[in-house]
Amino acid sequence: MSEIPIKRIAIFGSTGSIGTQALDVIAANPDKFSAEVLTAHSNDELLIQQALKFNPNVVVIGDESRYAKVKQALASTDVKVFAGEKSLEEVAAMDCYDLMLAAIVGYAGLRPTLKAISHGKAIALANKETLVVAGDIIMRKAVENKVPVIPVDSEHSAIFQCLVGETRNRIEKIILTASGGPFLGRKPNYLVNVKREHALQHPNWTMGAKITIDSATLMNKGLEMIEAKWLFNMKPEQIQVVIHAQSIIHSMVQFEDGSIKAQMGLPDMKLPIQYALAFPRRIKNDFPRYDFKKINNLSFEEPDIKTFRNLALAQEALHKGGNLPCVMNAANEIAVYAFLKNRINFLDMTDAIEKTMQNIPFIEKPTLEEYFDSDGEARNFAADLIKL
Ligand code: NDP
Ligand code: MG
Repeated sequence: MSEIPIKRIAIFGSTGSIGTQALDVIAANPDKFSAEVLTAHSNDELLIQQALKFNPNVVVIGDESRYAKVKQALASTDVKVFAGEKSLEEVAAMDCYDLMLAAIVGYAGLRPTLKAISHGKAIALANKETLVVAGDIIMRKAVENKVPVIPVDSEHSAIFQCLVGETRNRIEKIILTASGGPFLGRKPNYLVNVKREHALQHPNWTMGAKITIDSATLMNKGLEMIEAKWLFNMKPEQIQVVIHAQSIIHSMVQFEDGSIKAQMGLPDMKLPIQYALAFPRRIKNDFPRYDFKKINNLSFEEPDIKTFRNLALAQEALHKGGNLPCVMNAANEIAVYAFLKNRINFLDMTDAIEKTMQNIPFIEKPTLEEYFDSDGEARNFAADLIKL
């Protein structure tokens, strides 16, 4: 067999939950991957440690006030150090890597990912907000530049895996599974009092703070419906959500003959990360295996969208399209960070998102600039509402 060249990886958001797990995958497979770009926003200590261990070509620290510290700590190495938001885009355009793992959280991930696509880099996409904000433009540019967009999100990785070998076959629908989060079965009279610490305790997954709150409100599943629409070119009515509290089936595809394919395994993000980095190959690993005898009861139920209204709002955005998902995403980011700072309560998040969606003018076919503007307007509107 001919030798497969080492894939040179750029991890945008290397200090996060996805980023650190991706570095574990790279460390376990030095004959297959190298880490050539690492970026952080403010966690300079961890970025320095990662750079000393992986010896990348370039690191970027988003917060410019931390540049001198990172530069000095890496002075004895040949790692190039950049700082600031603009540098993220400049580095995304560099020749030193083949595949970008887009693992920055939120809207901040959009511009570097767009830049990477326009430079023909393959994308392993964790940052779902990128597709929620401007999925039409991202997917169009990916096609124009012949760039594969490989999902990292576990549900989308599951669907992607189910679709291997099925290019000629029509999909009837895709079924996204949702754990239901820490408040599954709870009602508004309970949710009104839940605190940040409680909402940050996810039953099945350990993730960054923002997505953990999104999982507790079910906004995460709404964002994932929109993500699925763009990744798999689905109509809104072809995307169904089912609560599956054990998170063993990561999602399913139903074909036009009624046959359903599911991808299963223990909830561990390292697997979809590894699959996206190595695609189209699978790599042997020693991750814990699912045992049918230990978790032998898989349950399924309808999501309660009357209680978890964020999912209903996201479904509205999915159906209406235009700039509405972008507006919703911006308001959600503002609301989640306000909740994390104990400025608003759990249910206030939904009110802020809903009012913002009602007030920002609708644009049916936005340009990229209009998406940027809608994001800014929605952030300002939501921040005013919350009195930030
Ligand atoms: P984390 O909060 O753990 O990490 C976020 C990363 O982005 C960190 O490296 C952080 O740097 C960096 N970052 C934060 N803000 C900015 C900014 N304004 N500009 C540049 N970089 C920034 O998030 P996760 O790893 O949990 O999630 C990353 C993405 O992956 C999200 O879009 C999430 O929805 C998606 N995802 C995550 C999953 C998970 O299991 N965690 C599962 C599926 C999808 P610093 O550390 O310095 O703050
Ligand atoms: Mg997911």
